[in-house]
Amino acid sequence: MANWWRVISPIEKNNLIMKTLENKLLSVVIPAHNEESGIAHALSVIQEILATCGMDWEIIVVDDGSSDRTFDRLRELAAQEARIRGVRFSRNFGKEAALLAGLNIAKGDAVVTIDADLQHPPRLIPAMIEAWKQGAKVVDGVKRSRATDGALTRLRARIFNATLSRLGGINMENSSDFKLLDRIAVNAITRALPERQRFYRGLSDWVGYPHESILFDVEERAQGQGKWSLWGLLGLATTAIVTFTSAPLRIVTGLGVITLIFGCFVAGEALIGWFQGRSVSGFSTTIFTLLIIGSFIMISLGIIGEYIAKIYDEVKARPPYLIDSSIGIDRENA
Ligand code: UDP
Ligand code: MG
Repeated sequence: MANWWRVISPIEKNNLIMKTLENKLLSVVIPAHNEESGIAHALSVIQEILATCGMDWEIIVVDDGSSDRTFDRLRELAAQEARIRGVRFSRNFGKEAALLAGLNIAKGDAVVTIDADLQHPPRLIPAMIEAWKQGAKVVDGVKRSRATDGALTRLRARIFNATLSRLGGINMENSSDFKLLDRIAVNAITRALPERQRFYRGLSDWVGYPHESILFDVEERAQGQGKWSLWGLLGLATTAIVTFTSAPLRIVTGLGVITLIFGCFVAGEALIGWFQGRSVSGFSTTIFTLLIIGSFIMISLGIIGEYIAKIYDEVKARPPYLIDSSIGIDRENA
């Protein structure tokens, strides 16, 4: 204490950090939907890694209304290890809701969110903690390759990310839900944001704070099948776009301008024809114009409708999820 101003050597600094980390808690949040076959293996792999991290830990599994025995598996696992906790939703509310529930329940000074299928390599958790120790408040797992995904899945992800990056102004390219958040970022997402329509990847970017990225290769799914249907993904994409940007509404204006220019052109043509004494021809032009304008109007109504639907959802203010039962969690927090 006497000479506190002297420069601290890197080793001393590390020791100091290790000491301060000893009493820190790391929460690992795992959304799980029909993961009966893989959850036990995933948890054992994750626990092995956590044992090497030099922090206290807890694992929170959010069973997103599984129709298989995922929650029974969890109960068995929690009976052997008290630091494994879990909740079960009353039905399937989706991964976004599951992540939110996990963040709400987690008590950790840092929270890692990771998939239940081991596609997010748990062995990177120590590297994430390292980045967090160095001051990052959000550590993003960024996908290096999607080599294990099929061509169609990759194309889908590409279109999804590119659309979002362009329209939302948030860089989603190769981003994932595999992240470490500092308590300050967790609080920002769970307490400071009242919205119900959530897009975790976007929000963790939106909150700001110092970010750090860690590259990872997407692993083969350990067990079972990917859960995203095309509709599910489209729904997520719509939520992501509508909650993050009003750019599509500008597209409506753009369509209007295009129609106007087109309309002027056709009107001019008709006027010239009238002066030249040409009779009422141009049946196909009329039909064509009607159809184009009609579809522009319908597209525009659809886009506006998406926003109105989201506004309606927010106004209804329904809870993002309902909890059916829990293991090792005091229900007040969930
Ligand atoms: N998941 C969930 N609710 C759902 C769908 C998926 O909690 O409605 C979980 C799933 O159990 C897994 C993670 O979200 O832990 C990612 O799901 P999946 O592997 O199906 O998607 P992908 O790897 O293609 O993103
Ligand atoms: Mg997966």
